[in-house]
Amino acid sequence: MNSAKKNYDVVVVGGGHNGLVSAAYLARAGLSVLVLERLDHTGGAAVSAAAFAGKPARLSRYSYLVSLLPTQLVDDLGLDIGLASRSTASYTPVIRDGKPGGLLVERPEGEATRRSFAELTGGDAEYDAWREFYADTADLAHVVAPTLLSHLPTERAIRDQVDPGIWRDLVTNPLGAAVEARFSDDTVRGVVATDGLIGTFASMHDPSLVQNRCFLYHLIGNGTGEWRVPIGGMGAVTNALAKAATDAGAEIITSAGVSSVRGSAEGAEVTWHDGTTTTTVDARYALSNVAPWVLRILMGEPEDPASKPEGAQLKINFLLDRLPRLRSGVDPAVAFAGTLHLAEDYTQLEAAYADAAAGRVPAVLPGEVYCHSLTDPSILGGSPEGTHTLTYFGLHTPASLFADDPVATKALAVARALESLNEHLVEPIESCVATDASGNPCIEAKSPQDIEADLAMPGGHIFHGHLDWPWAPNRARLETPAQRWGVQTDVPSVLLCGSGARRGGAVSGLGGHNAAHAVLESL
Ligand SMILES: Cc1cc2nc3c(=O)[nH]c(=O)nc-3n(C[C@H](O)[C@H](O)[C@H](O)COP(=O)(O)OP(=O)(O)OC[C@H]3O[C@@H](n4cnc5c(N)ncnc54)[C@H](O)[C@@H]3O)c2cc1C
Repeated sequence: MNSAKKNYDVVVVGGGHNGLVSAAYLARAGLSVLVLERLDHTGGAAVSAAAFAGKPARLSRYSYLVSLLPTQLVDDLGLDIGLASRSTASYTPVIRDGKPGGLLVERPEGEATRRSFAELTGGDAEYDAWREFYADTADLAHVVAPTLLSHLPTERAIRDQVDPGIWRDLVTNPLGAAVEARFSDDTVRGVVATDGLIGTFASMHDPSLVQNRCFLYHLIGNGTGEWRVPIGGMGAVTNALAKAATDAGAEIITSAGVSSVRGSAEGAEVTWHDGTTTTTVDARYALSNVAPWVLRILMGEPEDPASKPEGAQLKINFLLDRLPRLRSGVDPAVAFAGTLHLAEDYTQLEAAYADAAAGRVPAVLPGEVYCHSLTDPSILGGSPEGTHTLTYFGLHTPASLFADDPVATKALAVARALESLNEHLVEPIESCVATDASGNPCIEAKSPQDIEADLAMPGGHIFHGHLDWPWAPNRARLETPAQRWGVQTDVPSVLLCGSGARRGGAVSGLGGHNAAHAVLESL
């Protein structure tokens, strides 16, 4: 399909949720905006899909929970979306001395949580340490969250508002040091550590501190860090954003793969191919919703394997005829409503990292599952009574593990993921899985390579590359609007509006919002 015009104020390369946020803000400000998306639908990793033939359930196929999307952004754009709280924050099944048990964290935390900590750890000390630790992280979150939709603060400006001990534990030292100093139980330590490792391949002692940055992003959303369920699935969020953009006058072209972005101080030129025709348009600004690594190729640089991001997660979607029962006896509707941690004891996380870093699929694979349909059954469509969705996110399976033999390695990784779940079930998960129209089990697994093939996230990295601190280094140049919003590239007319912008990671809209504001401030 061709665009209506040859000149736009802004062309957005990629119709992921962030690109749509940019388009909505800019079109509402009266600018002419064109969004170009290579797939036949918008949303990128924030989509719903009927993943299993003959089954009406529409699963959030990739990303599944929302925390970082600011309420202010939802209000600004008048988005008609619902985000529901989960009644369980997490449940961690354990087997100790041969006896099944578990650690329950309710939302909000109450007596059952304290009791569960006491039963597992033999006293109140771990729960007291837990409450103190999360009160400390909340102190940092309350300082950072209000800055996310503003110019970048400097590191010093944030640090001056935070207790030095909290700053040391969360920002200066590798997160593993604080986790080991503050907690003594292996399971409790692991539950805390996972937020530093979702979408990030690292040891808890990694000197790069990439695990600290990942942890911070998981804790700061709207100042509470609560991960909520998008009613109707992730597709409902994207659909609301696409509607906000088109209602305001933005043009969206799908099946339009951008092949080149050329920029100068004066403007940008964007070329795409729709399968039959090549089209070029001019714009005052090109906003890149694609990863910075991909953008560099579109801007004419050679592909650089050395700097390519590498994702490390295994994603598995299931459709179940019924929820499985757990050996610990906990109600499955309680256990699966929140994040159910599997093989995520602290020592297991570190062992899995060491295995994967040595080139092996972890012998015991850490991961977590959660059931969307317990909180929001609307995604099940006309499915029979008892049907549920289950989504698994496995850690420490970097793309490089799958490179030589993708099929066999994925089969091995999936088998290990199922093992880690089955260890805690009365009946194997396979016996609960629904079958599709061809009689195949409703299990869909995605390696990092699959994610790259589906979504063009380089290396299958879910954040388009390592997350940055959500503030600027003290000596950073913050002279241009793009620099002040953390969305600059080397070319003034080309800005980052996606997950690869500073503060851009996850389903947050932050990259989109901040790029749009940099453009508006530049005009
Ligand atoms: C398996 C998985 C689970 C995740 N779980 C969560 C979660 O629960 N919560 C959360 O907050 N985050 C989660 N994330 C991360 C989150 O989904 C991403 O960080 C976020 O979706 C990035 O949004 P974006 O709009 O910046 O980019 P993307 O979603 O990557 O969108 C970029 C768009 O650009 C398009 N594109 C690429 N190349 C071109 C081209 N040449 N021409 C035109 N278009 C192009 C792509 O098709 C895509 O639509 C998850 C990600 C994955 C993969």
